[in-house]
Amino acid sequence: MAILLRGGTLLPMADGGRAIAGDVLVSGARIAQIGTVEQTPPDTEIVDCSGCYLLPGLVQTHVHLVQTIFRGLAEDLGLLDWLRRFIWPLEAAHDEASVRACVRLGLGELITTGTTTILDMGTTRWGDVVAEELVRSGIRARFGQAMMDTGENVPADLVESTRDSLDASAGLVKRWSKAGAGRIAYAYAPRFALSCTRELLEAVGMLAKLSETLVHTHSNESAEERSAVQGVTGMSPIGYLAQVGIATPRTVIAHGVHVDDAELQILRESGSAVTHCPSSNLKLGSGVADVVRLRQARVIVGIGADGAACNNELDGFEEVRLATLLARTLRGQGALTAADALGMATREGARALHLEAETGTLEVGRRADIVVIDSERLAGPGGDPVARIVFGGGSRGVRDVLVDGTLLVRGGVPLLFDPGEVRAKAAEVLPALLGRAQVA
Ligand SMILES: [Zn+2]
Repeated sequence: MAILLRGGTLLPMADGGRAIAGDVLVSGARIAQIGTVEQTPPDTEIVDCSGCYLLPGLVQTHVHLVQTIFRGLAEDLGLLDWLRRFIWPLEAAHDEASVRACVRLGLGELITTGTTTILDMGTTRWGDVVAEELVRSGIRARFGQAMMDTGENVPADLVESTRDSLDASAGLVKRWSKAGAGRIAYAYAPRFALSCTRELLEAVGMLAKLSETLVHTHSNESAEERSAVQGVTGMSPIGYLAQVGIATPRTVIAHGVHVDDAELQILRESGSAVTHCPSSNLKLGSGVADVVRLRQARVIVGIGADGAACNNELDGFEEVRLATLLARTLRGQGALTAADALGMATREGARALHLEAETGTLEVGRRADIVVIDSERLAGPGGDPVARIVFGGGSRGVRDVLVDGTLLVRGGVPLLFDPGEVRAKAAEVLPALLGRAQVA
């Protein structure tokens, strides 16, 4: 099966944001040809892309699908209060139906706004349910069931024994590695230093190394969390992660807002990647990550919306916009251009997940993970394509979305789910979830 995306403006993102006019021929799951395609295989489906921008699907390296229906339920709070008073009790109240509805809602929002790859952190149960929905959705994902074996104010239903936590992740690694025709794989997800014992973190470090699995955690998010970690461990948060064997090239650390010079050096030397979550950091009042400083130290920095409960959107293009605006404010004009920020949400995100040979750019041989943006639906009428997408409401223009050469969205309509039904189901499970949740 071949698809010819004909006559668009291509933003391959392989080297900056330079636009070229051309076609993309997709054969099976991969990009077969880029440029002017004159000959196509028989039975090629032709999709007219005139007036459209074609770019790699966005890669979001930090999301929480299981928090999607918590949107608007925990507002105007700082990180630790937000977690302890609302998010953890709400996660503890999840049942299979609420997790499924919640994950579907989040995936629908991500896919229809142009995100084709995610790194997701779940809660301490229901990893198989999340995985089933990831497979079903058609998205590319690395996911992990959150690991929590200690911590202040963690609801009893969320805390696990160290052994159970490790066994649960080991089972999920076994069941879901290379699922969904290879689109899905596992990432160990110790939640953060405050909810994991040293024993758990050390075991994760070892197991991830042996199985060459990613590790996904939160660190250096707010000043309060930073000093709490220092209080418990006697070390800087990233110094501690390095000591327990978690700072490695296979680790993706969400946030990295409050990072001192010694920690920056550990990040650089260990090869750990960081995910910038600008909306979440601003909304929880955590601060602003100095992405330019991280990038200058050659740390790989991806972008993520975090969860719907702290954003409250899952729109990757909005995160790109904020990333470049915040960097200009912190570091001056030119420090992180719109094209640089878009590169973080595509090529760099793929690097963080060790998927750069598969996705994150439009190049021959890469997986056909492609977003087609209709320029007529963006603010216009003309101008630089990257500026139009990043500052002109990129997600609004998303017309078609392909993952692995399969159309998941066509003409703005999702093909694998009914958005009305997904929304209704989420609304249906919410009252029961709220009834079960013991929020303070
Ligand atoms: Zn998070």
